Amino acid sequence: MRLCSVAVSDFRNVCSVHIEPGNRFNLLYGLNGQGKTNLLEAIYLLGNPRSFRTSRLPELVRHGERQAQIQGTVESGGIQNQLRLLVEAGGRKVEIDGKTVYKASELHGKLNAVVFSPDDTGMVRMGPESRRRYLDRAVYMGDIGYLHSWHSYQRILKQRNHLLKSSDRTGLDIWTEKLAETGAEVVERRLKYVAVLDGKLQKYYATIAGDGETSRLSYNPEGVQTTERTMIREELLELFKRHQRSDERYGTTTTGPHRDDLTFVLNERPLKAFGSQGQQKSFVLALKMAEMDNLQETFGEAPLLLLDDMSSELDARRNHNLMEFLTTREIQVFITTTERSPALLEAAPHCAVFRVEGGNLTFEGN
Ligand code: ATP
Ligand code: MG
Repeated sequence: MRLCSVAVSDFRNVCSVHIEPGNRFNLLYGLNGQGKTNLLEAIYLLGNPRSFRTSRLPELVRHGERQAQIQGTVESGGIQNQLRLLVEAGGRKVEIDGKTVYKASELHGKLNAVVFSPDDTGMVRMGPESRRRYLDRAVYMGDIGYLHSWHSYQRILKQRNHLLKSSDRTGLDIWTEKLAETGAEVVERRLKYVAVLDGKLQKYYATIAGDGETSRLSYNPEGVQTTERTMIREELLELFKRHQRSDERYGTTTTGPHRDDLTFVLNERPLKAFGSQGQQKSFVLALKMAEMDNLQETFGEAPLLLLDDMSSELDARRNHNLMEFLTTREIQVFITTTERSPALLEAAPHCAVFRVEGGNLTFEGN
C-alpha cells in the first residue's frame, strides 16, 4: 500500500499542506511542537475510523476553524483510490472516490497503517485497558467481522448493566446468555489473533534487540480454557452465573472480555514488572512489526509504517537493526525526528526529507 499524495488543511496546527511522499522512506523532521505527530495522525486518520491519540473530534480541528480536511490518493493492488475525510466538532464524513461512505467496513483495508509512538511504549506500564484497546484495534484492522462482534458485545453489556442497576431484574438471564454468546465471538477472535501474533513476535524481537531473550504474548481470558466458540460460550455463561451475586451488588458486570488483559512476557517474566525501558520499547516495536507482517499476509500488501519520535524511542543499535530490516521490505515508511539525522539518512536510501515548522512542510529533497 502506498500513499501517493496527501493534502491536509485546518487540521490541528496545520493550515494547509500538500505533499507527494516518497515510495519508501520519508523523514519529517522539526523542533518540538511544530506538527510532526499531527501530520502522522492526519495520515493515519485517512484510513482509520479513530485517531491513535484522541477520541475527541473537536481537538482535531484547527483552533478558530470549523472544519478540518484530509485528502489523499492511495494505491493498493494497482488501483488508486481518492480518500477524503472531513472533520467537524459534531462529526466526521468519509468519501471514497467522491462518494460518501457510511459504514466503517467500506473504509476498512483502504489505507492500512501501523503506528509506533512513545504512547505505545506506555501501554506496557499502564493498566489493562490500554492493552485491551490496543488488542481490539489490532484485531479489527485485520478482521472486519470483529467490529460487529465487539459492538454487539458492548451494546448487550450496557443493557445487562442497566438491568443490574435497576430494582426489576426481569430478563437478566436472557441478557446474560446473549452476553456469553457475543463475548464468545470476541474472545475467539482475540485468541486467534494473539496466537498468530505470538508466533511472529520472537523473530522480530530478535531482529530489534538481538538473540538470547525470549518474548511471548499471552491472552488468558478470565474463566476460559478453550479456544472454540461454542465451548467458550459455555465457559463465559458459567463465569457470569458465578459472579451474578456480586454483579447485582455492584450494579455492573464485574467480569468478562471487557475486563481481560493482554500480558507481555519477556524471559518468562512479566515485562511490565521486570523489563527495562529499552526492553519494553523493543518488545512493543517487535509487536508492531508482527502486526505489520500479519496485515501483509491478510491483505497481500504491506501497510504504511508510521514511526513517531524515533530518536527518543530507540537507541543507535536498535535504530540500526530496524532500518536494516526495513530496507529489505517493500514498505512505505514515515519517520519523525527532531533532527535531520545523517545516520538515519545513510541507513534509509532515497529518503524524501521534509522540514516541519509551525504546521508547514518544506520538501528538502531525496
Ligand atoms: P514533538 O517533537 O514535541 O513531538 P511535534 O512536532 O510532534 O512535537 P505535534 O504534536 O505534531 O508536535 O504538534 C503540536 C502542536 O500542535 C502544539 O503546539 C499544539 O498546541 C498544536 N495543536 C494541537 N491541536 C491543535 C488545534 N486543534 N489547533 C491548533 N493547534 C493545535
Ligand atoms: Mg510529536
